[in-house]
Amino acid sequence: MTPLSELALGQQFPAGALYIVATPIGNVADITVRALHVLGLVDRVAAEDTRNTSQLLSRYGISKPTIAVHEHNERSAAEHVIAHLRHGERIACVSDAGTPGISDPGAKLVDAVREAGFPVIPLPGASALTTALSVAGAWVHTFSFIGFLATKPKQRDTQLQSLLTHTPALVFYEAPHRIVETVQALGRAFGGERRLLIARELTKLHECIHCCTLAEGPTWLAGDANRQRGEFVLVVEGAPQQEAADDAHDALLATLLEELSVSSAARLAATLTGASRNALYTRALAMDKARAEKARE
Ligand code: SAM
Repeated sequence: MTPLSELALGQQFPAGALYIVATPIGNVADITVRALHVLGLVDRVAAEDTRNTSQLLSRYGISKPTIAVHEHNERSAAEHVIAHLRHGERIACVSDAGTPGISDPGAKLVDAVREAGFPVIPLPGASALTTALSVAGAWVHTFSFIGFLATKPKQRDTQLQSLLTHTPALVFYEAPHRIVETVQALGRAFGGERRLLIARELTKLHECIHCCTLAEGPTWLAGDANRQRGEFVLVVEGAPQQEAADDAHDALLATLLEELSVSSAARLAATLTGASRNALYTRALAMDKARAEKARE
């Protein structure tokens, strides 16, 4: 059988290219053979935190010059990276943990390097997003990645309201100091019945994966102070299909009723959506009555 290290070599690793390399999200052993090969091969490493990355690389017996590429300097650092690429260097980009560009620096560097005409090559690996989803179960068939919610309560709640009728499951990242508040806000916005997966400290010593409902989430977190510590991924069940469809139908009927009679609006809405004409007629009639009553007030 071909050794893994040889398989890692069975690919081109062109010079003058940027390699986006996923690193572990906890357990230092969660790195791919290809990632180690590329980290050993590159001329330098663009890193979110150069000290953290140098320490991580030393665990693998690798030492490389680094370039700091973080949230506050990504565009200017990109120029620096591009200058090295012009000299034919291979450069790896890593973040503090997991996959660069996923709630982490990396995306702007990718844009700038591609715009400058150099190849950008992905090396897949750990991400808290896919790690949590891999143990969520069959209730998550489609999902949307939201990442960190706004930190200001008003903005966060507006964001959550805009997701109210979204049917795919929602994936959030959260920090320990906001976890209780965020789970409470999710319950207030979406109601207590939807499923919630709390994935804490994935791949680490105190890894914990708990499934409950949004109503049960705050009580579970309050059950032990340790449950509020560490890093979190939250997966929340999406809106029920029927509810989402009802909301979309209401919006359509409201627009049509501005120009058409109840029966014409229901007929057109049924043609456009494929939904039952009778059900839409009943709904349109109720909406029309409510509108007429409001106008009389
Ligand atoms: N780029 C990373 C990735 O691919 O997942 C994410 C970086 S983001 C700055 C950090 C957030 O990811 C944490 O606040 C937490 O929400 C989530 N996260 C990272 N590592 C985690 C872990 N081991 N367990 C649970 N969540 C984690």
